[in-house]
Amino acid sequence: MTVLTLVELDGAEPADASLRAVTLARSLGDVNAVLFADAAPRDTLARYGVTDVFLIERSALEGYAPQAWARVLAGLAAETGATAVLAAGTDRGNEVLAHLGAITGLPMAANCTLVTPDGGKTHRLVRHRWAGLLLEDAVMEAPVALFTVATDSVASVSAATPAAIQVHVHKPELAEADLVVRAVESPAGAGGASLATARVVVGGGRGVGGPEGFAALEVSRGVTSEGWRPHKQQVGQTGTKITPELYLACGISGAIQHIAGCAGAKHIIAINTDPGAPILAHADYAVVGDLHQIIPALVEALRAR
Ligand SMILES: Cc1cc2nc3c(=O)[nH]c(=O)nc-3n(C[C@H](O)[C@H](O)[C@H](O)COP(=O)(O)OP(=O)(O)OC[C@H]3O[C@@H](n4cnc5c(N)ncnc54)[C@H](O)[C@@H]3O)c2cc1C
Repeated sequence: MTVLTLVELDGAEPADASLRAVTLARSLGDVNAVLFADAAPRDTLARYGVTDVFLIERSALEGYAPQAWARVLAGLAAETGATAVLAAGTDRGNEVLAHLGAITGLPMAANCTLVTPDGGKTHRLVRHRWAGLLLEDAVMEAPVALFTVATDSVASVSAATPAAIQVHVHKPELAEADLVVRAVESPAGAGGASLATARVVVGGGRGVGGPEGFAALEVSRGVTSEGWRPHKQQVGQTGTKITPELYLACGISGAIQHIAGCAGAKHIIAINTDPGAPILAHADYAVVGDLHQIIPALVEALRAR
């Protein structure tokens, strides 16, 4: 059985969320990856057991165009006889697969944590509802199962033995209508490490005091609502879900919608003046104090080392 997986890149390498999706895909069949890029990270994909890569070069399709990407996946799913099409549960993964569902008329399940084939055209799923606060058991019956994989649930694990990988450069045929929505440029400063895949995230909330308080911090919705920082830096239910080794939460109260985005962090350190702030109940370590004193002292101690 062939399982088609949309792989997003973080720089030249697959995004960690995509490697998690590939790991889950491997339990369902032979993994064929689809990449919208000029080059494929062959070695990494082979290590994760990908047997075939379909490379959609930028000359064939420039920029991010969700409907066009979905059209390409629809064509490749038919061509390869895929029984499932997967993507990571990122903004793009969820958007493209929703378009794919609309194009093909197939059902699509977002943010799954477990997918098990159950004979024929049936898959049993467990998926996040309410930003991961609830888990739902569901059954999907479809000739081709479409789903995305929750970014903070499945661990990315390489295959026991690397696959002999083949790369196919694919030239899609697209209609003008597929390209009506297309992101052709990113604003200045949009580069840098991805919040969703960063190993260390330093977060700042309203307690930071104002826009000038964000030398190196990422953020809660309190501060995006105030316009102190852009929405793309928001962690939480309506922002990005993060899964770092370490999350340093500074001046963040720990509202349930914020925790929905950072509960996947391996370790949380909170700095807060309020010993009753909810974030402290989720933190491995807490410093009760003023971040304007604690952070400079922390930076000085780190520099000294
Ligand atoms: C539908 C919906 C979706 C939402 N989605 C999100 C989301 O995705 N992400 C998100 O973050 N929120 C989200 N929210 C908002 C959420 O409910 C909270 O309002 C928000 O997280 C609060 O942000 P905050 O912790 O920065 O601010 P506050 O709640 O105001 O907390 C500030 C904290 O800073 C501490 N503090 C103050 N001064 C200092 C200091 N000098 N040093 C140290 N600590 C200090 C205070 O003790 C307090 O704990 C959502 C809400 C709704 C209704």
